[in-house]
Amino acid sequence: MSGIIDGRAAAAAVIDEVRAGTKALGALGTVPGLAVVLVGSDPASQTYVAAKGRMARECGFRSRQIDLPATVSQAELTSVIEALNADAAVHGILVQLPLPAPLDAAPILKAIRPEKDVDGLHPVNAGALASGDLDGGLLPCTPAGAMRLVRAVHGGDLSGLVAVVVGRSNLFGKPMGQLLLAANATVVMAHSRTRDLPGICRLADILVVAVGRAEMVRADWVKPGATVIDVGINRLPPEAGAVRGRLTGDVDFAGVRGQAGRITPVPGGVGPMTIAMLMANTLTAAQRAAAEAAAPAAEFTDRL
Ligand code: NDP
Repeated sequence: MSGIIDGRAAAAAVIDEVRAGTKALGALGTVPGLAVVLVGSDPASQTYVAAKGRMARECGFRSRQIDLPATVSQAELTSVIEALNADAAVHGILVQLPLPAPLDAAPILKAIRPEKDVDGLHPVNAGALASGDLDGGLLPCTPAGAMRLVRAVHGGDLSGLVAVVVGRSNLFGKPMGQLLLAANATVVMAHSRTRDLPGICRLADILVVAVGRAEMVRADWVKPGATVIDVGINRLPPEAGAVRGRLTGDVDFAGVRGQAGRITPVPGGVGPMTIAMLMANTLTAAQRAAAEAAAPAAEFTDRL
């Protein structure tokens, strides 16, 4: 019987740490501030944004939601970001993706000051991670959350283990590969052009899948005893009589469960970690801002 990795419990532990950190920072006079920008009225995005705001308030943050119509121009959206960049009470800025067409997300993400980029997607933060600097920037939330789940199973040093990441997006696959590499795993990045994907997956001691294809990974793709991290979120077509189909991952959970050593379910695996790591990043950003604000005074005192 394989072990199910409880992402909800792991996320709750992160949130407890964030609450404690927020309290300590509050005693020094700083309340972390998170601003979430929602453009348009996509129902899934509305749900995600509401959940982020709720969690931010539960953590003791100041939470702001900025709703903009789908007709907002690129320039107007950029000026909203610039105003948030300049607002000292806002430590974290998140623009909910995807943006409605014809808005271009890349320049918007670049407009966010890297130290407020709590999604960890700014090129400066992506570059810090790519160069192996895990502490200098802010890490993207989903890979950072998935990595915590990996560490809970294998510890911090993955020397000697083969990790296969299926999917090479900037949002998840690439940063996940870099985090695994930084932890000394031997990393294979697989994607839509990979030949013999099942054979490559069978090499994995740690198999991480982020593709967006429901239940693609079957039991015979998985090495017995492997750790399987399923990042995919797919909604299946509704069954007869149902209004909505059920959520499922990129891994055939029922089939793979008996083959894997440990496996994340969908929902209740990586998903809850993403939002928890967003809160952790916002606290980190607020702690750094507070330290920076205090630093010139300390320097001045030193010189006296
Ligand atoms: P993208 O669509 O940006 O990337 C998908 C990746 O999968 C690409 O690299 C693509 O390869 C690869 N791929 C597509 N088809 C195949 C195939 N048949 N075989 C092998 N590789 C394939 O997706 P994201 O990375 O943004 O997201 C992936 C999944 O993770 C989605 O289901 C998404 O909903 C979920 N997700 C979940 C989050 C969470 O909080 N749990 C957060 C973020 C994402 P190529 O580059 O060659 O096209």
